[in-house]
Formats: sequence, structure tokens, C-alpha cells
Amino acid sequence: MLSSRPLNALHPVALIGAGPGDPELITLKAVRTLAQADVVLIDDLVNPLILEHCPHARVVRVGKRGGCRSTPQAFIQRLMLRYARQGKRVARLKGGDPCIFGRGIEEADWLTEHGVPSTVINGITAGLAGATQCGISLTLRGVSRGVTLVTAHTQDDSNLNWSALAQTGTTLVVYMGVAKLADIRLGLLAGGMRDDMPVAMIENATLPNQRECRSTLAGMQQDALDFALQSPAVLVIGEVAAQHAQAVLAAAHSA
Ligand code: SAH
Repeated sequence: MLSSRPLNALHPVALIGAGPGDPELITLKAVRTLAQADVVLIDDLVNPLILEHCPHARVVRVGKRGGCRSTPQAFIQRLMLRYARQGKRVARLKGGDPCIFGRGIEEADWLTEHGVPSTVINGITAGLAGATQCGISLTLRGVSRGVTLVTAHTQDDSNLNWSALAQTGTTLVVYMGVAKLADIRLGLLAGGMRDDMPVAMIENATLPNQRECRSTLAGMQQDALDFALQSPAVLVIGEVAAQHAQAVLAAAHSA
């Protein structure tokens, strides 16, 4: 469909990170942009409380809460394009950060190819916030020299090279890992990671129903079962996952 407006008159589509769950963990820029939006496309895992910042916008839910299949990506993209071409201010709200396992740049590129400008507003990614809320510093000085963010879920269902990841010596933060605990555990053990390597499994991070299960590499699969670990959850695997910094916990609970 051809645009009824000159392309340079279109508002950029804002791809916004809604943060990990706590509705206060969102940037001022995101809040200001939401307040100006005409249409907000809200993704799965975005806390609906954030919609208080856009009371006048039309809200379109494009997530898969409740076990439904997610709205197909191509449909969401076409929806953004259609509203933008109508001259509307479109905001696309995504959980965490739009560019961490969030297709933010893919969508921005696709919009560019279709002649619509876009902008990305960062959010706090779940792995970072979840670790902090459990008193874990992902790069604790003298313990961890780096972090690897990795998804256990691949588009073609191929297995990741967990053995190679074991050998990086960095803290691993695994997204979308709940259904893949067996593969992760076996792969990391095969890669030479210690079987008593600490693991923290953090469910619903930063939300009132946040839960954490501390375990080890060898025990994580059974412990997750006993704990009935559910998605969304992130796994922190590495020496730092043994930490429980009390100062952080005290601050989080008094906030
Ligand atoms: N862009 C998002 C990640 C989307 S992928 C971000 O930056 O956080 C979806 C995965 O993110 C989930 O399967 C889970 O692994 C993780 N996740 C998202 N929200 C979470 C939360 N509140 N608690 C724990 N994990 C979460």
C-alpha cells in the first residue's frame, strides 16, 4: 500500500524497552515517548501497568500471554507500518531491552527498507535486573571478568555450543532456558565446567512474584523441577551466582 503522506512527514516508530517487569524500571525517555504515542503495540512480558503512561493511545496487544500463539512477526511489522504511514505516532513496547533477544534492530531495519524512520529506546534487560535483585553482581571484581548473554532457544532448534561457552570463563546469563535445562547442563559439563559451579535461576525478576532458586550445575535440572521453575526465568551460571549481597537485597525490599 502506498503512503498517503510524504515519507518525511512520518513520525519515527519508537521501539521501546519496557524494562524487566517492575514498572518503575523504565527510562524517562520511554515514558515521554509513550505519552505522545497514538498507537502502542504491547509485547508479551511487558507489564501492563506501564500503559498508565499512555492513557489516550490505542493499545494493540501482540503478545502470547495465556498460552496463545504469538502474533506472527510479519503481521506485527505490517501493523507498525500501516499505522506509521497513516501519520500516527507508533510505539512498540518490548520487554527488557529491545535489542537483547528482542529483534529491535531487525524491526528498525525492516521499517527503514519500507521507508519509515524508527528510533530505539533502550530498556533494562531481564538478566541484568534479575541478577541485581538477587544480590548478584555479574562482573564481581576479582571473580568474573565478563558476562555472556546467551539464549537457549534457537530459531532452527539447533543446539548451542555449550562446551565452548563453558570455556569462556565468563558469567553466563541464559535467556529462554527453562525448557532446555538438560541440554545446558550436559553441554557445560561436557565443556569442563565444574559440577558444583553455582547457578541462580530467577523467575519473574523484579516483579512482586519474583522467585529465585539457587543450585549448582550438577543439581540445576532436578532443583528446577522441585522448585517448579516457570518461564520467564533467567539463569546465572558462574562463580558470582553464589553471592547474596545483603545491601542490594535490603535496598530492593525497602523500595
Ligand atoms: N528483550 C528481553 C528478552 C526477551 S526474550 C530483555 O532484554 O529482557 C524472553 C526471555 O527473557 C524470557 O524467556 C526470559 O528468559 C527472559 N525474561 C524476560 N523477562 C523476565 C523476567 N521478568 N524474569 C526473568 N526472566 C525474564
